[in-house]
Amino acid sequence: MPFADIMGHDRIIEVLRRSLCNGKTAHSYLFEGVPGSGRKKTAMMLIQALFCTVLPDDACGVCPSCRKIESGNHPDIHHIAPLPDKRDISIDQLRELQHILSLRPYEAPRKVCIIDPAERMSVNAANSLLKTLEEPPGNALIILLTENAGMLLSTVRSRCQLIRFAPLSPEHIVTLLERSGMPTETASLIAPMSGGSLQRALELDNESLVVRREAVLSRVSQLSHNRIATIFDAAEELSGTRDATLELLDMLLSFFRDAVHLGAGNREIVNRSVRPAIESIAAQRSFPRNLELLERINATKRDVQRNANPKLALDNLFMAMADNR
Ligand SMILES: [Zn+2]
Repeated sequence: MPFADIMGHDRIIEVLRRSLCNGKTAHSYLFEGVPGSGRKKTAMMLIQALFCTVLPDDACGVCPSCRKIESGNHPDIHHIAPLPDKRDISIDQLRELQHILSLRPYEAPRKVCIIDPAERMSVNAANSLLKTLEEPPGNALIILLTENAGMLLSTVRSRCQLIRFAPLSPEHIVTLLERSGMPTETASLIAPMSGGSLQRALELDNESLVVRREAVLSRVSQLSHNRIATIFDAAEELSGTRDATLELLDMLLSFFRDAVHLGAGNREIVNRSVRPAIESIAAQRSFPRNLELLERINATKRDVQRNANPKLALDNLFMAMADNR
């Protein structure tokens, strides 16, 4: 798999390739981003390029080293994660790792270790890693993956080169889902709700999502101040657990983003199969009003993420949405 297969992280790939060319890769990297944004794939790609015996700054995909990595059994790559049934990565695991790294590599120029998720290292474990991060034995390469670098000890962070992976754009998610064999229409429905994570996109249940989308569009189109029940009933029906409410808000964001797009004169929208419903959202209110509501939905999402009551948050949001100025 060459670097070109990685989507949405051109800038990061450029930086990594340049460091490979100069022979100046860091000892320790910290890859931060939502799971499913491409951190792990990029880490494996970096290792492949580093070990490839044919190309200096990419993976050829055919040399023995590239093929062993593809098939997941290269003897010089080590993965550290919490043991089954354990919450944290223990200090014993890291002691063992340090021993392994101190041994000569079997065939690669250096040993590599991926720690994922790095924020699950216990404080003792993390502290025991500091020296290794600074001066990895045998020139080993250590790559930490985390969802949030802020959850790591600052002493760990400061010893690594931090690389931030932005969530994938809905367009990239659509392309990746299509590559996995999903029809375009389904992929475009799922992508806006994936939060930029391919993993999350693949987990979303397509069929129930289609049904829910219809329900949401129907409720939203009926919101009216003249019939106040339409507001509270919609909030009652559509709110649920915090996660379900956040999913709903992502769906609304995707609808209103499309409506704003249409209002701005663009033809291309994400939710193509419900185009008439999106057109009616765009036509119901003025362009500035739809922009305002888009921001309002974003704010509601932040509130719910910060523990606001989902039902009350939706009551307020739907109240604002019923106002067709
Ligand atoms: Zn190769």
